[in-house]
Amino acid sequence: MTLNIIVLAKQVPDTRNVGKDAMKADGTVNRAALPAIFNPEDLNALEQALGIKERFPGSKITLLTMGPGRAADILREGLFRGADDGVLLTDRAFAGADTLATSYALSMAVRKMKDFDLIISGRQAIDGDTAQVGPQVAEKLGIPQITYTENIEHIEEGKIRVKRRLENGVEIVESPLPAVITVNGSARTCRPRNAKLLQKYKHAKTVTERQSEDMDYIEIYDRRPYLDLTEWSVADVGADVAQCGLSGSPTKVKKIENVVFQAKESKRLSDSDVEIDELMRELIENHTIG
Ligand SMILES: Cc1cc2nc3c(=O)[nH]c(=O)nc-3n(C[C@H](O)[C@H](O)[C@H](O)COP(=O)(O)OP(=O)(O)OC[C@H]3O[C@@H](n4cnc5c(N)ncnc54)[C@H](O)[C@@H]3O)c2cc1C
Repeated sequence: MTLNIIVLAKQVPDTRNVGKDAMKADGTVNRAALPAIFNPEDLNALEQALGIKERFPGSKITLLTMGPGRAADILREGLFRGADDGVLLTDRAFAGADTLATSYALSMAVRKMKDFDLIISGRQAIDGDTAQVGPQVAEKLGIPQITYTENIEHIEEGKIRVKRRLENGVEIVESPLPAVITVNGSARTCRPRNAKLLQKYKHAKTVTERQSEDMDYIEIYDRRPYLDLTEWSVADVGADVAQCGLSGSPTKVKKIENVVFQAKESKRLSDSDVEIDELMRELIENHTIG
C-alpha cells in the first residue's frame, strides 16, 4: 500500500521578531517587513507524513502552501527534509484572506490534485492563531477530520488511527480515509534537512522565480523536472475570485495594535512562593487573569 499525502504548510512572520511596522494600515500583515519562517506545527505535520512514507515506501508527500511568491522558500525547506513535491498557490487575488477564503482556495487546489489519501495540516499558525483552516478545508472537501493529533498510530487500507492530545489527556480516534488531520506541537519534532536532498533541490524554483532571475543554468529544469515547483493562480484552480482574498473574507480586521512591552512593565521575580503569590494577587486584582 502507498499513500498520496498533502501537507498544508504556511509561511508565517517570525512573531519572535515583530517590530512596529508589522501591520499595514488596512489591518493586514506587512509580510515584507517580517522575517518569514515555516509555521512550527506544520513541521510537526510534515514529520508525521515522513513517518508514513517510511512505513509505506513509495508513498508521495506534496506540500501545498498559499502565499506570496517568497512562500516558495518553505516548499524548498520541505523538499530538503524529505517531501517529494511542492505547490505554491499564489495570486494577488488571494491577498488578505481570512480563514474562510484561505480554506476555500486550498480546497480548490486539493480538488485539482484529485488523487489524495490524507491531508495533514498543523493545528495552528503562529500569526492568525485561529486553528480554523484545517477543519474548514475538511468541511469544504466533505471529508472527516481529526484535530489535535499527537501521533499517527496505525494506517491500513481506507482507515487511520491517531492519538489526540487534549487538555485533560489523550484519546485514540479512528477515521475512514481520505481525511484531514491537524497536528500539535507536542508531536514528534521534524527531522532536519538532509544534505543529499539539499544538494538535489537547491535549485528548485517556481516559474516566476526563474523569470525574475538571470540564470545561466536554465536548461537543468528540462533535464530535472523535479526542480520545477508548481505555481497555481486563481484561474489554475478554477476558483471563484469573489470567494478569495479580502473580497471572500467576512472577517474584517477592525483594528490591530502592536503590544510592545516597555521595560517599565516588566518585573524580575525570584521563584519564592511569597513573590509568586504577590504576583498572582496583583494579576487577579488588575484582571489580567481570572
Ligand atoms: C493577527 C491576525 C489575526 C487574525 N484573525 C483572524 C480571525 O479572527 N479570523 C479569520 O478568519 N482570519 C484571521 N486572520 C487571517 C488568517 O491569519 C488568515 O486567514 C490565514 O491565512 C489563516 O488563518 P490562521 O493564520 O489562523 O491559520 P490556522 O487556521 O491557525 O492554520 C492552521 C493550519 O492550516 C494550514 N494553513 C493555514 N494557512 C495556510 C496557508 N496560507 N497555506 C497553506 N496552509 C495553511 C497550516 O497547516 C496551519 O498550521 C488573522 C490574521 C492575523 C495576522
